Amino acid sequence: MMRLGVSSPELLAQELNIERDSLERVCRVYPIFINRYFLERIKESGASLFKQVVPDPRELIDQNGIDDPLSESNYSPVRCIVHRYEDRALFLVSTTCAVFCRFCTRKRMIGRARQIRDEELKEGIDYIKSHKEIKDVLISGGDPLVLSNERLEWIIARVREIHHVDIIRIGTRVVSVLPQRIEISLIEMLKKYHPIYINVHFNHPDEINHEVEEACGLLCDAGIPVGNQTVLLKGINDDPHIIATLMRRLLKMRVRPYYLHQADLTKGTEHFRTSIETGLRIIEFMTGRVSGMAIPSYVVDLPGGGGKVPVVPDYLVKKSDKRVVFRNFEGRLYTYYQ
Ligand SMILES: *Cc1c(COP(=O)(O)O)cnc(C)c1O
Ligand code: SF4
Repeated sequence: MMRLGVSSPELLAQELNIERDSLERVCRVYPIFINRYFLERIKESGASLFKQVVPDPRELIDQNGIDDPLSESNYSPVRCIVHRYEDRALFLVSTTCAVFCRFCTRKRMIGRARQIRDEELKEGIDYIKSHKEIKDVLISGGDPLVLSNERLEWIIARVREIHHVDIIRIGTRVVSVLPQRIEISLIEMLKKYHPIYINVHFNHPDEINHEVEEACGLLCDAGIPVGNQTVLLKGINDDPHIIATLMRRLLKMRVRPYYLHQADLTKGTEHFRTSIETGLRIIEFMTGRVSGMAIPSYVVDLPGGGGKVPVVPDYLVKKSDKRVVFRNFEGRLYTYYQ
């Protein structure tokens, strides 16, 4: 599934009938990969998918971006671990993905850094073993689901053996960009290691089709809670109606909206960034209009390694010891007596 894909500018230009020169220039710095399934989806759906994975010459003129915007390297005791929050650790098990998203926070390594070796995985497992405070291991990358079932099981089984680890989470984009990867054999393997959680990544309602619905159904039926992370992207989903539609459609597939991420300050992605006000307007629009279950937390992952902070619209108008005045989602004022 993964080997079949487009990684050369010539082929991509030919497939999508676009100009080759700029693809070539960008690709020398930030590689291309689009699997065959997603390439066909781009041809059907158009701009909302195209812009996420097809190189843009603006990637090369970003003056303000940072290679490692979350300073992950400062929190990385061994190559494949990022340990920023006491009770949780990121375990990066792959440096490649089923598509290379142009806005990726780990653009510095996706398709560029060499693949992670067995000894490095073992170092990661030993690190988790020797840190009893880690209760939640997030297997991520790159995309862990580009690995074979055998390799993935080797990793998961070793993490599951560690007594102080309560839950294992897998962060993946294959559910939206290569849903066929969610095969019965994968599900049967994952089920053996519960509690397993999966966080998927959808940015636009156009990513959802029958195959995607089926993949989400399989995961949920296997007792795997599925959460979704969306990145707010200029010109793709920076619109309250698009986000509200996406969140409703996710819920309908039993996928719980988890985070709406403000785009990070990643070098080469400036053209995707929106203002914080755009995100706040989207959350305000949804509050009171769609099910609370459909509303994700809007978060900014602070540059320099500050960690994630939630950004919430302010409904508190006035506050004293005696009373608090709120505005509601319709803009009317109400008083609560303390
Ligand atoms: C986002 C993130 C986590 C997980 O945070 P949750 O809020 O628990 O989903 C863990 N480690 C790092 C480094 C992260 O960036
Ligand atoms: S699938 Fe995730 S890790 Fe891979 S390029 Fe896209 S955003 Fe980055």
